[in-house]
Order: sequence, then C-alpha cells, then structure tokens
Amino acid sequence: MRRIVLVAAWTAIVAACATVPEKGASPSVAIFMDFDDKPGDASLAVMKKEADALLKPSGVTLDWRLSRANGGNETFSDLVVVKFKGRCRVEAWSQPGTDFGTLGETLSLASTSVKEGHVLPFTEVECDQIRKALAYLRPDADQIDRQKALGLALGRVVAHELYHMLAHTTSHATAGLAKASQSLRDLVASREMSFQQRDFLAIRNNLH
Ligand SMILES: [Zn+2]
Repeated sequence: MRRIVLVAAWTAIVAACATVPEKGASPSVAIFMDFDDKPGDASLAVMKKEADALLKPSGVTLDWRLSRANGGNETFSDLVVVKFKGRCRVEAWSQPGTDFGTLGETLSLASTSVKEGHVLPFTEVECDQIRKALAYLRPDADQIDRQKALGLALGRVVAHELYHMLAHTTSHATAGLAKASQSLRDLVASREMSFQQRDFLAIRNNLH
C-alpha cells in the first residue's frame, strides 16, 4: 500500500489570547474557523462531529465559530484559530480523484505555529492536499459520500493539530491519531481512529 505521511511544519508567528472561564465551568475550546473556500454543509457537519468525538475523552467541549463572528465578548477556557487554505469543497461536477500521490511522497496536511519552542494556537490546514484522500474512496462513492469523506479527513487533521495546541507539545505519539504521520487512505477510512489515553492526559494537564 502506498503510504503518504502527514507532517507538521512549524512556521508562522501569530498572537491570540484566551480568557479565563468562570470557576467550576467545564473547559470549552473555541475554534475560530477561517475558510478560503467554505466546505459544503455535509462536510462541515461531519468534520465537527468527528473532531468533537475524537477530543471528547479529554473532557473538553469544542465550540465551533467562524472567525468573522468573533465578537470578543465570550468566555472560553481556550481558543484556537484554524485557517483552511485552498479548496475545501467537493464540487458536484468533479470526477472521482485518480491522484493517489507518488510512492514515498510526503504531503503536509496542516501546520501549527511554534515560536521559541512554544506551540501557538494557530493552525493552517491544507485543503488541496487533504482532498487527495478522496482518491481512496470506492469507485461508486457518490457526491454525498465524497462530501462526508472530506469532512471525516478534515476532522481528523484538525483533531491532530488540536492535540498539539491543547497539549502544548510538538512531540508525537508512536500510535494513534497523535502519530507523526497517517496514510491518506486511513484519513477517509470508516474504521475509527483515536488518540491514546496518554494524549488525553496531556491535553487535560495543560488546560487553563
Ligand atoms: Zn503533528
């Protein structure tokens, strides 16, 4: 099987801040999304559902917002900004993908910012690379199947970057969703993916 790895590239510098929640409130993480090209509703719904489920055992609740809707008057335990670059949608007229990638090729699917060793709450997601995972769907996958698969892949990539941002770590696990790489095929597979228990602990121990 051809393996294509997911890597995190550490690049830009961005400042963001979080407010301290009321005492006793359950930790909620606001995710402010900024799209070059907003996904279809089915993709967006599946992306949120997948990332919610993947992070749920850590005890955090994800609160999805569009960046432009940030009024600055809400309270969250933590907040992150996710910029979705490129084309994040499956067009009705697009043909099933046939680009399986090149053997041994490394694709960067997302990158989270690091400054002086500190992980910053800012991620860029590369939709044009993630869309290549659709080539691994079965040939008779219809438009809705493809939209949902793109949402699944986006949710898993976002969850991986949330692990870095919420656990404040640049390191990777040897197994599970916190691994340094995943195959494109696994990103759209219906088989469940999950973090390991130690990854949830790392997130919990670093919540504000
Ligand atoms: Zn990573």
